Amino acid sequence: MANPSLLILAGDGIGPEVMDEVKKIITWFDAQGIVSFDVSEGLVGGCSYDAHGTPLTDETMARALEADAVLLGAVGGPKYDKLDFSVKPERGLLRLRKEMDLFSNLRPAQCFDALADFSSLKREVVAGLDIVIVRELTSGVYFGEPRGIFVEGNERVGINTQRYTESEIARVARSAFELARKRSNKVCSMEKANVMESGILWREVVQEIHDKEYPDVALTHMYADNGAMQLCRWPKQFDVIVTDNLFGDILSDMAAMLTGSLGMLPSASLGLPMENGRPKALYEPVHGSAPDITGMGKANPIACILSFAMALRYSFSLGDEASRVEKAVEKVLADGVRTADLMGPEGGSPVSTGQMGDAIIAAMQASL
Ligand code: NAD
Repeated sequence: MANPSLLILAGDGIGPEVMDEVKKIITWFDAQGIVSFDVSEGLVGGCSYDAHGTPLTDETMARALEADAVLLGAVGGPKYDKLDFSVKPERGLLRLRKEMDLFSNLRPAQCFDALADFSSLKREVVAGLDIVIVRELTSGVYFGEPRGIFVEGNERVGINTQRYTESEIARVARSAFELARKRSNKVCSMEKANVMESGILWREVVQEIHDKEYPDVALTHMYADNGAMQLCRWPKQFDVIVTDNLFGDILSDMAAMLTGSLGMLPSASLGLPMENGRPKALYEPVHGSAPDITGMGKANPIACILSFAMALRYSFSLGDEASRVEKAVEKVLADGVRTADLMGPEGGSPVSTGQMGDAIIAAMQASL
């Protein structure tokens, strides 16, 4: 049987640096005879614009649609800030998400015990935190029409449209309920039904899907602004949070701070199953291309490595191997291995991106 296929799109800035550490782990799995992937690589974002004049070629898009999973580093950077909107690096990522129909974005926020003191919140608030934000990814205000900057009378007006269909809400609700059944059977849905019609529909549809298909899961609803407050106040009250594209973008970045560093946060974006039963899927760290530290060996590769662990679990049903990676991360952090972003005010000597990757592989080796 052919090996499962992985398309690696490392992208810009620190993307290739953190992805190098994932490649080491893929090589390790292969060398141990545990699992081998057919790995191919491509360009996305600014590097694709430099090579081809577009942030994503049709050819790379087609390969992404065929791959069993796509791993992405990060896109963007100041060099591309003045480009026309249509060819900005982020358009490459948005096209991947849209054409792969990756409507369900899973963003775990997990606080490793060794890092509980690095959060901006008190240890007791974050220690042991393990929540997942499920963000709708292919619709809502980032895609709705009409959009643009228009002239009305003697001034310009900027317009974006929040638009959700019932089926778009239903499918992301289902993915949150399915995930909850594998965890603590608890979902909190967040919107602004008090001021937005799309929020009223969101609340109604999530409730209907719950009542018809997932009555065993405990469902609560919360306004997204209150949700933001509650996430700061007592995040452990949540397990799975499901929300729309815009609120999910903001709430998941906030959840990032709960765990101490953006460099720790992985994500998975899942679509409908392909013919082989695997969901269309793209895995990427939540962080961006970090131009301020690019090329300095300072990037924390853990978010990208944990994204690969999510690929093992969600695309390849290799839950034990995903846990092996996650436990190795936990072990090196407990041993005090830190990249610069994880150093406390008392300082110390941080390891480089490559040294962090090597330490994680050594911990995986020790786990055999
Ligand atoms: P960013 O996530 O790149 O960086 C924010 C801060 O976090 C920076 O100080 C950075 O050094 C730090 N940081 C991020 N990742 C880190 C890591 N792995 N290890 C250590 N420190 C890390 O966000 P930004 O500065 O707002 O954006 C920079 C560029 O990235 C922009 O062009 C933006 O459009 C793009 N971006 C891309 C994505 C993506 O590819 N998914 C996401 C967000 C931003």
